[in-house]
Amino acid sequence: MKAEIFSIGHELLMGELTDTNSSWIAARLPALGIQVQWVSIIGDDQQMLTEAFARGLERSDLIITTGGLGPTQDDLTREAVAGAMGETPVVQDEVVQNLERYFQGRGQVMPSHNIKQALLIPSARFITNRNGTAPGWWTERDGKIIINMPGPPGEMHPIWEEEVEPKLLELADDEVTITRNIKTMGMSEGAIDEIVGEFFGKENPYLGIYSKADGIHLRIIARSRDAATAKTMIQPVEEAIHQRLGEFIWGYDDETPEQAIGPILKERGLTLATMESCTGGYLANSITERPDSAEYYKGGVMAYSDAIMASNGVPKETIENHGVVSQETATAMANAVRDSLNADYGIGIAGVLGPSEVEGKPVGLAYVAIVGSDSVKEFELRVPPRRVVIKRRLANQALIELRKLVVASGGAS
Ligand code: AMP
Ligand code: MG
Repeated sequence: MKAEIFSIGHELLMGELTDTNSSWIAARLPALGIQVQWVSIIGDDQQMLTEAFARGLERSDLIITTGGLGPTQDDLTREAVAGAMGETPVVQDEVVQNLERYFQGRGQVMPSHNIKQALLIPSARFITNRNGTAPGWWTERDGKIIINMPGPPGEMHPIWEEEVEPKLLELADDEVTITRNIKTMGMSEGAIDEIVGEFFGKENPYLGIYSKADGIHLRIIARSRDAATAKTMIQPVEEAIHQRLGEFIWGYDDETPEQAIGPILKERGLTLATMESCTGGYLANSITERPDSAEYYKGGVMAYSDAIMASNGVPKETIENHGVVSQETATAMANAVRDSLNADYGIGIAGVLGPSEVEGKPVGLAYVAIVGSDSVKEFELRVPPRRVVIKRRLANQALIELRKLVVASGGAS
């Protein structure tokens, strides 16, 4: 099945809003046996939208859109679908009543403009939206399908998962594509290329290698008539990668470093505390992305000055003798916060965020220390001198190294 995706909205064309919806949807289609052939961004213009739908109906089996389903005059997706299909929208009374109830529940009267959200053409049916007023449309005629969903990701994602994906799964009968992403850290792209070289250059399963902020990713992609067969094709490649790169692998698929370490700490009843300078809280922010992080994360100190380090237990002499950006200071930070918060593991990060050198040390140079009751890991890193890159790389690598250390130290403390 050949598909295209429209992201609809003037703000997307103006660069005010980044289109994340289309890539989110595109990533979910290969596993359903659906091939995306075009992704378009289209403004809130009825004529252009209508043209886009008409052209899409000619060249694709399926059009998936987000945006333009709101109640305002510039939300024109429904009107455009109706135009391209040559059908007249009719107000559905039961949906008007639902909308009225939705507003009543919030102590408000429904604005008259919202009536628009109760329109339907004969070939369409509504897709329920539990999280907002705009229902989606599923339109089907002459073997073509148009799926319209609201723009806010918080509304679109549940609609996709609960309503759209299950239906598409029934319809798609082409080849299914399954991917497995294996995430490594600590070995260079060139070295990995050599070690698993025999798997590169093949069509199916295909092996790709990508350098990312959290290490080198290996992506295995297999195509087959059904998911089970595709998985079987992935298996031997995955096993070989495991055997040869095992200790460098820290995660799979969409897993982030904080998602990879969280469950391990929790399972073993271990706790963590952090003291960071040049990452500006990025490390603490990453760790607390997990909803259950309170069960293992005791907290952290964002020490953006020597004074804060000193008042949180980092010996003044350490800073004076070795410099604020030094391995000794990073280790003292890890020890100090581990002690004061009574945690099993402490992480300390000290580095140069820029724009200028510190103590003659260049932007992007950093020291990390991870201290446990019977284990210490210390390392120096040189990261490209961009603020966000420095923060992200250091936080990621600290968490990945923590995972390695915890796994290597075995049982619970
Ligand atoms: P709309 O359904 O056009 O009223 O869109 C409402 C809101 O959804 C926008 O203001 C954005 O916050 C969000 N949104 C719409 N389209 C996208 C998109 N393609 N990617 C990410 N967010 C979007
Ligand atoms: Mg809009």
